[in-house]
Amino acid sequence: MPLRCIDENRKSIHSFKMSEWEWEALRQSNAQFQHLSMPCCGRGVVLKKSERGTRFFAHKVRGTCTSASESAEHLEIKQQVCEALIENGWVAETEVRGESREGEEWVADVMASRGQSRFAIEVQWSRQSDKVTVERHSKYKSVGVKALWLHRQEQFLVREQIPAVRVGVRSDGTYEVYAKQMMIHHKADGSPPAPIFRLQGIPIAQFIRALLNRRFWFGSIKAGERAVIDQYASPAHCFYCRRDHQVTSLLIVNGEASREPFWLSYRTLSTSAALRAELLACGIPVSMVASDVCPHCEAKVPDETVQRAAYAQRKVASCTIQVSASLVKAANWWGISHSLQQWRLDHDSLDTEHTY
Ligand SMILES: [Zn+2]
Ligand SMILES: [Zn+2]
Repeated sequence: MPLRCIDENRKSIHSFKMSEWEWEALRQSNAQFQHLSMPCCGRGVVLKKSERGTRFFAHKVRGTCTSASESAEHLEIKQQVCEALIENGWVAETEVRGESREGEEWVADVMASRGQSRFAIEVQWSRQSDKVTVERHSKYKSVGVKALWLHRQEQFLVREQIPAVRVGVRSDGTYEVYAKQMMIHHKADGSPPAPIFRLQGIPIAQFIRALLNRRFWFGSIKAGERAVIDQYASPAHCFYCRRDHQVTSLLIVNGEASREPFWLSYRTLSTSAALRAELLACGIPVSMVASDVCPHCEAKVPDETVQRAAYAQRKVASCTIQVSASLVKAANWWGISHSLQQWRLDHDSLDTEHTY
């Protein structure tokens, strides 16, 4: 059920670009002259409307055409995506065909373009395995076309190389994408705040606008932004040199532009030398970086001491850094298996909520 067909001059006609009057006139002229053809196979066309009123072109006779049939939801999301693109000054075309470098065909649900920029948007209302997503994505990539995936399924591949977001439908029939909003409860005793997340629906049109304004981005932190880092630690006693020191158990990184702070646990900090090095290069004092040795005698801090520290941790220091591109890279690399590693959307309704 495409939103596009071909006229007698081989020109594309898009249903969502027409007024109601133009649509009706086209329906009548096509009934008489049958001058329209399907972009997939060149067969004859009939003009139809879905139950919810979305206009589309259908095969008069499907015959041996192998193009996949689309659900009403798939059709409607495509239409809403196109309308939002056009509203923001972009050109939107649907069912755009192309070939990968290896000569395999792809058909983009929506191709957005403006000047030299273009990217594909794939609406995946039906379930798709990660393997197929990777294969289809690499077809686009082989010819330099970026692609964005709108998945209905809850679980899908989260990769910096493969932008993706979840879509769904509300009870009133409007479509939205889902993004996480963080809520942070700060505690009076100086112990670390506890983050919780909730899913917020953002209307498709607002998501597309944010996307075009580069407000859909990957990772935990942005290069170039300023970040305040809070250090949480607890007192410890060294049994070798018999002096007191502090065991850093947690750093909370509050990026000014990133909206969501992220938590760097002792475990993460002690296992990622690259992350420690990049934090130091950005100007964080050595005393704030988690270490598993005593700062006085360099004896190894026993595991029990580290574990105990996590229960008695209090905020002990803060510093401000300028986030470097290599810190972003290290943080993103570290985050591959971490839930904070995700595609993020900047949107007013997703601002972190703080309670005290
Ligand atoms: Zn066809
Ligand atoms: Zn010591």
